[in-house]
Amino acid sequence: MAVFCHQCGAGLPPSARFCSRCGAVIPVTQSMPGQPLVRPIAGRQIAGVCLALAQANGWDVAVVRIVTVLGFFFSGGFVGIAYLAGWIGIPEEKLPLPGEYPPKV
Ligand SMILES: [Zn+2]
Repeated sequence: MAVFCHQCGAGLPPSARFCSRCGAVIPVTQSMPGQPLVRPIAGRQIAGVCLALAQANGWDVAVVRIVTVLGFFFSGGFVGIAYLAGWIGIPEEKLPLPGEYPPKV
């Protein structure tokens, strides 16, 4: 994954810490790609939204679930709506099963 300077737009090697053209500091987070945001089939409790967020960001899935459950009760419904949005918006993990997916309707 290429890294680009946020000041002058110059292309830099992924290990760059400073821009070779203008000298700007390159944020380290740019060179740390996470896992793709998908809802895994294995290990999910309801729809896999908590698991997807945990895996994509490197969080502990138990912590994400506790925060989500607490959010259901204390956010006035916001977390519930966000969960449904994630359920709809985050793509399901593709299983490598021949002839099983997608199911015939
Ligand atoms: Zn630059």
